[in-house]
Amino acid sequence: MSYLCLENLVKTFNKTEVVKKLNLEIKQGELVSFLGPSGCGKTTTLNMIAGFTEVDEGKIVVDGKPVHLLPPNKREMGMVFQNYALFPHMTVFDNVAYGLKLSKIGKSETQRRVLEALEMVRLSGYEKRYPKELSGGQQQRVSLARALVIKPKLLLLDEPLSNLDAKLRQEMREEIVEIQKNVGITTIFVTHDQEEALAISDRIAVMYEGRIEQADSPVSIYNHPKTDFVSRFIGEVNQIQGKVTEILGTHQSKLNFYGNEQIVAVNAMKNAEMDFFIRPENIQISLVETNDRNIGFKAKVERKMFLGAKTRYILKAQNKHLIADISNVVLNSNLIHEGSSVYAAWKPEHLLPSR
Ligand code: ADP
Ligand code: MG
Repeated sequence: MSYLCLENLVKTFNKTEVVKKLNLEIKQGELVSFLGPSGCGKTTTLNMIAGFTEVDEGKIVVDGKPVHLLPPNKREMGMVFQNYALFPHMTVFDNVAYGLKLSKIGKSETQRRVLEALEMVRLSGYEKRYPKELSGGQQQRVSLARALVIKPKLLLLDEPLSNLDAKLRQEMREEIVEIQKNVGITTIFVTHDQEEALAISDRIAVMYEGRIEQADSPVSIYNHPKTDFVSRFIGEVNQIQGKVTEILGTHQSKLNFYGNEQIVAVNAMKNAEMDFFIRPENIQISLVETNDRNIGFKAKVERKMFLGAKTRYILKAQNKHLIADISNVVLNSNLIHEGSSVYAAWKPEHLLPSR
């Protein structure tokens, strides 16, 4: 039974549909991220859920109750924005207490709940400060406390970490997940950062041009992308082409890549050219020819980039470029130079079919 249900949501601005019959179900306690390029409709969808943007068509159901016609303050949602959106003339305490005042909660309960929320975001003792006396990370914690203090049904975060530097971003994303799990609150986290989405989400809803392309666990999104957009947008891919030389059965065909044959689990038609994606970390290279099920073909190292834990090799084979990322634990990068001839290989199960 889903807790939040988005049904055929449509939003049109100036005759352009920016959200196109979007459907998604979220379970209670789940952390789902909306991941997609700038302009794909993430904020618009979140604003429709929060009630800041009117729904043109479709329904939003929370805990069995339609909410899409209610004003924002009747929807019981906590929202956190990229730019914090704190009241500059109010102390930390008053900023966090704001939502409780609106719902006419008494003084002593307000006191108790504000202090509890500040403790949750590790800001006990900062009650009397003003936003300008806090770092960006601390301001974002205040806005998180302000969202959580009303005990909302949903926590909605719109690129909450985008104004923070890389190190703090990573720390805060761990904290947000910890708080989210402790409170058990159903959460939508909007981001355009794929690494962030992979790291924190129970499920990722990958968005493109107003639609959800795929909603799945991070592992499934990465290993079993369902559309070409998802293959390209999450992680990195090489695009390669193979020619079908023999049909061996249903879902079993022999293909020729770079002059070598390999058996791949796909349905195919004889002589067809088929496109695949393969991730850089799934390409192996060696100085000697490989065997077994791995296809092995000659390539030249055009460029080599030492990246710390791994080395990136830009290979050229039959006039096409391929990127291979090899862990420096697996292969000592000193052994291979720009200009070296190598053998490249991959396992057939790492080929992602293009659709
Ligand atoms: P994202 O958050 O994924 O970057 P948005 O939801 O903000 O994308 O925007 C989706 C599209 O809708 C964009 O093309 C944007 O320019 C347009 N848009 C968003 N809000 C408005 C608005 N209030 N009026 C007109 N166009 C808008
Ligand atoms: Mg946005």
